[in-house]
Amino acid sequence: MTYDIDGLEAELRALLGDGGVSREPAVLERASVDGARLSPVLAEQLPLGRAELVAWPGSAQQIADVVAAAVRRGVPVTPRGKGTGNYGQAIPMRGGLVLDTSRARAIVEIGDGYALVEAGVPMAAIEKAANAAGQQVLMYPSTTASSIGGFLSGGSGGTGSIKHGMLHHGFALELDVVHAGGEAALVHVEGAAAEPYIHNYGTAGIIARAKVALEPLQEWRAFYASFEQFEQALSVIRPFADIEPTPRLVSADGPVLAGALPEDEGIPAGRSSLRAILDVASIPAATALVEGAGGRVEVVREGARASLQVSRTSYNHPIEYLQHAYPDTYFHVEVSGDALVDRIDEVQAVYPGGMLHIEAQKGRPIGMLAGEYRSAAEVFAGFDRLTALGVGFHNCHQWYVDYEPARTAALAATTDPQGLLNPGKLQERVDVQTGHQDVQK
Ligand SMILES: Cc1cc2nc3c(=O)[nH]c(=O)nc-3n(C[C@H](O)[C@H](O)[C@H](O)COP(=O)(O)OP(=O)(O)OC[C@H]3O[C@@H](n4cnc5c(N)ncnc54)[C@H](O)[C@@H]3O)c2cc1C
Repeated sequence: MTYDIDGLEAELRALLGDGGVSREPAVLERASVDGARLSPVLAEQLPLGRAELVAWPGSAQQIADVVAAAVRRGVPVTPRGKGTGNYGQAIPMRGGLVLDTSRARAIVEIGDGYALVEAGVPMAAIEKAANAAGQQVLMYPSTTASSIGGFLSGGSGGTGSIKHGMLHHGFALELDVVHAGGEAALVHVEGAAAEPYIHNYGTAGIIARAKVALEPLQEWRAFYASFEQFEQALSVIRPFADIEPTPRLVSADGPVLAGALPEDEGIPAGRSSLRAILDVASIPAATALVEGAGGRVEVVREGARASLQVSRTSYNHPIEYLQHAYPDTYFHVEVSGDALVDRIDEVQAVYPGGMLHIEAQKGRPIGMLAGEYRSAAEVFAGFDRLTALGVGFHNCHQWYVDYEPARTAALAATTDPQGLLNPGKLQERVDVQTGHQDVQK
C-alpha cells in the first residue's frame, strides 16, 4: 500500500495544531500496543504492526475530519481509545494513522435514561456523571478507564451484565459514526441500525459520539465473602444471580487467583473469594446464602469508589493479576455454561494448572479458565475437550472480528470500500461491485 503520510501529517497539523499530531518514535510505539500481551499466543507474534502517525482529534466533528483526510489520501486508520483491548484489536496492522480518541471527551448531555458522550469519554466518567444526576450506566467493563468508543467497539460486557446482558442487548441507543467515504460527515444511526457497528473494532465505521442507556441509581454495596473451599463459593453463584434486586456483579475465585488480587481485608489469604456489588436491600439474602454454604462475610462497603474497586477485580482482571504474580506462566480462555459449576474438576483438568474465575449471569455462568501455558497448539487442543464437557468458549487468542463477521464484512463493503478502517481485522471482505468474497489471512 503506498500513500502520502507526510501530506496527511501536514494536513492534520493544520487541522489539529502541532499538539494534535505526532511522529515521535516513543509515541508511535505506545500507540501500537494494546492489551494483547494477556494472550501468550498473541504475545509470541508481537509486534503485529506499527503506527506511522498518531492524531488526537478533540471532538466528534474532528474525528470525522481526521478520518476523511486519511481516507482521501488512502491512509489506513486504526481507532484507539484507552488501548486495553486484549486481542490486538487496536494494533495498526497495516501501519498508517492511529486515531486516538482520548481528547474527544465531552459529556454532551445526561438526560433522563441516557448519556450522550463523545467517543473518548472513560466509562468511569460516564458513571460518575450519571450518578450525579441520580442515574447509573447499564454496564461497564472491569477496565473502568477504557473509553466508551473502545468499549462499544471492542468489549462485550461487565458490571451490570447480570441484569442487562451484553453490549449488543440495547445498551447503545444511538451512534454518530464516520464512514470511510472521504467526506467529513457524522452518520447518525439508531437502535437496530446502530447494532452492526458494535463489537467489530471500527472496521465498518468509527464511533464519534454515542448515546447510551442509563437507569435510575441504586444504593449499591461492595460485598466481600470468603470460603474454605472453591466449591462452596461456586455453589452460590447461580443463586446469587437470582437475588432481587439483581446484583450488579458477582465474581468468585479459588485461593490462588484470589491471592493474586490486590491486598484487601475482604480477601483473606488462603481462602476462596466471592466479591459482589449488591443493592443494599439484598444484603440479608446474600449473607444468608454465603453462611448457608459455610462461608463468611468479610466486609461490606459503601460508596461508588468501593463498587468500582470490586469491578476492577472482575472479568479478565484476575487473569491479569495472576500473570503479574506468576510472570510467563498463565494463559486463559473465556468460557461459559453450567458445567463451570457442575463439572468444575473436569473443566479445570482440561489444562495443566487449570483454575476458574467465575462470573454470575442470568441463565448460565461465564468465566475465565486459566491454565499453564506450554504452546498455542495445547491451548487450541483444549477447545474440543471444553466442548465435550458442554462448556462454551471464546477464542481470545486471535484478532479477527468474530462477532457477526459476515454482517460486518457486508456493511464494510459499502462504508469502507477501500478497506482502510482498522485493516487486517476482517477475515472476510466483500467486494461491493462483484459480491466477491476475499478471505484475508
Ligand atoms: C485486564 C483486562 C480486563 C478487561 N475486562 C473487560 C471487561 O470486563 N469487559 C469487557 O467487555 N472487556 C474487557 N476487556 C477488554 C477491553 O478492556 C474492552 O474491550 C475495552 O472496553 C476497550 O476499551 P478501550 O478504550 O481500551 O479500547 P481500545 O483497546 O483502544 O480499542 C478496542 C477496539 O475498538 C476499536 N476502537 C476504539 N475506539 C473506537 C471508536 N471510537 N470507534 C470504533 N472503533 C474503536 C479499536 O481499534 C480496537 O479494535 C479487558 C481487557 C483487559 C486487558
